[in-house]
Amino acid sequence: MMGAYFSICSLVFLLIFIVVFFLKRKVENIDTKIYGVILIVTLIGIIFDVLCFVLYKFGFDYNNFIYKTMAKLEFTYYFVWLISYWYYMISNIYLKKIGESFLNKLKSIEKTIILLIIVSTILSIVLPCEFIVDNNSIIPTGLSVSFSSIIDGLMIVVIFISAIINSKYIFNKKLVSLFILIFAMIFGITIQQFYPDLYILNFLITIVDMVLYFTIENPDVKMIEMLNEAKDQANRANNAKSEFLSSMSHEIRTPLNAIVGFSNGLIENDKLDSESKEDVNNIIMASDALLELVNGILDISKIEAGKLEIIDTYYSFPKIFDELVLLTKARLGEKPLEFKYSYDKSIPEYLYGDAARVKQVILNLLTNSVKYTNSGFIDFRIHSIIKGDIVRLIISVEDSGIGIKKENIDKLFGRFERLGVEKDTTVEGTGLGLAITKKLVEMMGGKIVVQSVYGKGSLFTISLDQKIVTGEELEKLKKEENSKEESATLIDATGKKVLVVDDNNLNLKVAERLLGAYKCNIECITSGFECIEKITSGEKYDLILLDDMMPKMSGKETFDKLKEIPEFSTPIVALTANAISGMKEEYLKYGFNDYLSKPIEKAELNRVMKKYLR
Ligand code: ADP
Repeated sequence: MMGAYFSICSLVFLLIFIVVFFLKRKVENIDTKIYGVILIVTLIGIIFDVLCFVLYKFGFDYNNFIYKTMAKLEFTYYFVWLISYWYYMISNIYLKKIGESFLNKLKSIEKTIILLIIVSTILSIVLPCEFIVDNNSIIPTGLSVSFSSIIDGLMIVVIFISAIINSKYIFNKKLVSLFILIFAMIFGITIQQFYPDLYILNFLITIVDMVLYFTIENPDVKMIEMLNEAKDQANRANNAKSEFLSSMSHEIRTPLNAIVGFSNGLIENDKLDSESKEDVNNIIMASDALLELVNGILDISKIEAGKLEIIDTYYSFPKIFDELVLLTKARLGEKPLEFKYSYDKSIPEYLYGDAARVKQVILNLLTNSVKYTNSGFIDFRIHSIIKGDIVRLIISVEDSGIGIKKENIDKLFGRFERLGVEKDTTVEGTGLGLAITKKLVEMMGGKIVVQSVYGKGSLFTISLDQKIVTGEELEKLKKEENSKEESATLIDATGKKVLVVDDNNLNLKVAERLLGAYKCNIECITSGFECIEKITSGEKYDLILLDDMMPKMSGKETFDKLKEIPEFSTPIVALTANAISGMKEEYLKYGFNDYLSKPIEKAELNRVMKKYLR
C-alpha cells in the first residue's frame, strides 16, 4: 500500500521535472534526446502504476482484461526503461570515446532496440498473469511476470557488462554516476523481491532519472562543456594555422637567403655598371621588404599563439637611435620630406629591455610616416622621464601626411586593417604593422596613442619604461662594446678548413660567397651522411656549419652521430632558417657551439669566424 503513495509522489515530482526539462533551452544532442525518452518512459510507467492503484482502490475488477493489460504493460515499462538507460549509457561513452562519427552506428542500434521493445511488449501481453491479494496489496504472478523478470535481469547483465568493458570511460569523472545507479537499481529490485508490497521501484527510477539530470544532463553544464569543446577546437585550429605560418615562413626564408646573399655579393662586384648596380639594389630592397613581411606574419602568429616572448638584454640606446635614423633616411629616397630627429641627452647610454622589439615598433611608426607622407616633414623625437632606475621613453613620430579619418582611428590597430589605401596600390603594406606594434608595446608594459587630422597629418606616441644600467654591469657593457668595434674587421683565415653542410645547393653557394671573404678553404656537401663519412675517413676541419632541416638525416641527428666519433672536437655551428625566438638557446642547449640564422647576417658570421678561426 505504501508503495502506491511512493508512486503518486514520484508522479508529481516527475511531472514538474519534465515540464522544467522540456521548457529549458538546451543543447540538442543525441544523448539529451535519449534522456528525454527515458523521462517520458518513466512517466508512462508511473501513470500505469498509479492508474492500477486508483482503479483497484475504487473497486475495479482486477481480473478484468483492461486492468491486466495495464499491469502487464507496467512490467514491459521496466524493460523499456532499462534498455533506454543502456542506450543512453553507451551513447555517452561512445561520444566520449570516438566522437560524432559514432552517431551513424547508433542508427542501426536504434532499430534493434525498437524491435526488441515491440516483441517483449507483445509477449508480456500475450502471456498469462494472475493476481494474489495479500495484506491489502495486489501482487501479480504468472508467466508474464516471469518473462518480464527474466528480460529485465538480462538487461541488467548487459548494462553491467557494457559498463565493465568501458570501465575506463565510466570511471572518468561524471559518467561514474551511471555505474553507481546500476547498483541503486539492483538494490531496489532486491528489496522488491523480499517486500513485494513495499513498492519503491518507481520511486527509485525517478530518483535515478533526476540524478542523471544533475550529474550529466544539466543543460547549463552541457552548454558550457560544448562551448569549452568548441573553444578547444578553435585553439587547435589556431595552433595549426600558426604552425603552418611558421613553417611557410621557414620555406620562404630559404630562397630569400639565396637572393639576399647573391645580391649582396653582386653589389660589391666592381665590374658591374651603374645601371646593373641599381637593379641589384632594387632586388635587395624588394627582398628586404619580403623578409619584413615574412617576419610580420611570423610575429602575429606567434603573438596569437601566445608564443612570443619579450627577451630583455642590455643595449646601447644611442646606437639604436642612430640605426633608426639611418634606416628611415634610406627609406625616404627621393621624397621631398624634411626629416627631423632628436632625443633627450639625459637618456642614459645603456638600457635594459628588448632592444630588437623596441627598434621594431619605432621603425614601424617611422616607416608608416614615410609611406603615408608625400610632402612636408617627419619629426621623430624621444623625450624621457627618469624615476629611480627606470627611464620612461616618450617616443613620438609626427608627420604632415595623409592623416587618418576620425572613424578609422579605432580600427587602426586591428589585423590586416588598411584604411583608405586599398585603392592606392602604390603604397605597399599588409595592415599588420600597427597590430603587431600595439601588441608588442603592451607586452613590454607600454602604451601607444595616436592623434590625427585627416589630410593634415598624424602623431603617434609610445611611452615605454626601460631599466637604466649602472655600476658593474655598465663597465662590462662598455668593455664589450669596445671589443665589438674591434671585431668589425674581417679576419684572415688562410689555411683554415671550413665544412658547410646544407641540402640546398643555392644556400651552399651563398655560404661559399660569404665565407670567401675570409680566405679559408671551403668544402660544401649536401647531406649529414656525407659529413659523417668525411669525418670518419679522417678528414680534419676547423669549423663545421651544419644546416638543421635536411631530409633523411637532420642536422641534430648528424650532430649526435658526429659526437659519437672518438676524438672528434671540431666546433659545430647550427645553420637554420628557423628564426623563431628561443631557437638559439635551444641549439646551444642541444650542444651546438653556436648558431647562425638564415639569411646569414655578415656581422654574425664575422663574430662566429673570429671566435673559432682566429
Ligand atoms: P600597413 O602600413 O602595412 O598598411 P599598418 O598596420 O602599419 O599597415 O597600418 C595600418 C593602416 O593605418 C595603414 O594602412 C594606413 O591606412 C594607416 N596609417 C598608419 N600609419 C599612418 C600614418 N602615419 N599616416 C596615415 N595613415 C597611417
